[in-house]
Amino acid sequence: MAIPTARTRDSASARFLKPFCQLFEAMVTTVILSMLCVHLLCFCAMFLLISTRLNDKKMGMEVFALGNLLLGLAYILQLWGGPVSTGLMSMLNHTLTLCAPAAYVLGALRFFDRPTPVWRPLLGLAVLYTILQGLVQWQLGSEARHALLAAACALFFLAMTGAVLYAGRTIAKDLRVEMLVFALLIGGICALNAMKFVLILTEGMAALDMASSFQRTFYIYMSFLATVLPPCAVWLVLRRLTDELRNTAARDPLTRLLNRRGLMDGLEAHFRSRTAGHAYLLVIDIDHFKLINDTYGHNVGDLGLCHIAHVLNSTARQGDLTCRLGGEEFALIALNTDKAGAMQLAERLRGAIELSEVPGTSVGQRIRCTATIGVSDVFSNAQALDAAMQQADTALYRGKTLGRNRVEWVQT
Ligand code: GH3
Ligand code: MG
Ligand code: MG
Repeated sequence: MAIPTARTRDSASARFLKPFCQLFEAMVTTVILSMLCVHLLCFCAMFLLISTRLNDKKMGMEVFALGNLLLGLAYILQLWGGPVSTGLMSMLNHTLTLCAPAAYVLGALRFFDRPTPVWRPLLGLAVLYTILQGLVQWQLGSEARHALLAAACALFFLAMTGAVLYAGRTIAKDLRVEMLVFALLIGGICALNAMKFVLILTEGMAALDMASSFQRTFYIYMSFLATVLPPCAVWLVLRRLTDELRNTAARDPLTRLLNRRGLMDGLEAHFRSRTAGHAYLLVIDIDHFKLINDTYGHNVGDLGLCHIAHVLNSTARQGDLTCRLGGEEFALIALNTDKAGAMQLAERLRGAIELSEVPGTSVGQRIRCTATIGVSDVFSNAQALDAAMQQADTALYRGKTLGRNRVEWVQT
């Protein structure tokens, strides 16, 4: 009888312990997966709560909630049936897993003000993918169906990474850093799905064993994403909301031109720049505007004010500041120009208002108006705006007494 050496004793105990180790590793992965489900469902509730507070513009929050719900349900099914399960429950799991990122894409489109339907594309994708799964299962078996999901997810996330990078360079230039971070995170999940695809092809269903280090890494990364991405989304919504609040506070609600506060902010921003040049203030007052209101009604009067705002914006040079001071009085600050340039601009503006037609409420209604413009002396800091305003006002009232529809310069 052979006496057991230390080495054979070690390998025997290793053999004895192996199933326990595997069980423990599978348990660890299952716990991570359970935590992932909890994260997804909690953040789903948070997205829903935020979307109920955003009455008119939900910024895609309700669609992000749907994405989290779909993914959470998919992982619950996975916990229930195991990762290598077959049958209807597994097919439903795969369909939900693919529809969740599609919901995130639709949510992102809504965030960027691209109105898009949600239920129809998601249902279409679900039906198509379920049919495809059925065919693959029938012809090639369960392993191929799991490989199909990994490949489809890898391709989907690759497209998403590209789209996020593209968005950072086009429609979301102000969010370039955030978009880069999103692209890196989504790129990571794309790479993991591509690896899963290759592992299923080489190792078969063993690649999906919950005790494997790959599955553990996969779910740790997914948990990391489920923890990091929702606060990032909330940060983006907060940024958008505060930007909109700032914009609302700085603009006139009727014409969307700057109000006095916005004008001051814009002027301060201009003079903060080291290369800032001089400025001239033009105050524009519509002639006999009360008559338009009295003749055609207040609604036409409002249309007239919006029309003047449009003429102002299209006549001013890029970078100039256009503002509604109140009532039928507007201001234009011509930046980085000289006296001749400011005078030319004022004359061009007067002519454009005189020649253009105010849109009426009925077809064929022809309404024209004129404006008197007072121009201030040159100034080169924001604190000088009040003095410039007085100068331009004095010039303007001289223009009114001299017959209206004219440009008057401050007399120094
Ligand atoms: P002047 O040539 O001397 O400037 O005459 P005016 O009629 O333009 O000036 P006045 O100050 O007598 O009247 C300004 C009118 O602007 C009176 C007011 O009803 C009208 N108005 C002020 N704010 C608004 C507005 O938001 N919408 C409309 N439709 N009218 C407005
Ligand atoms: Mg007027
Ligand atoms: Mg007035």
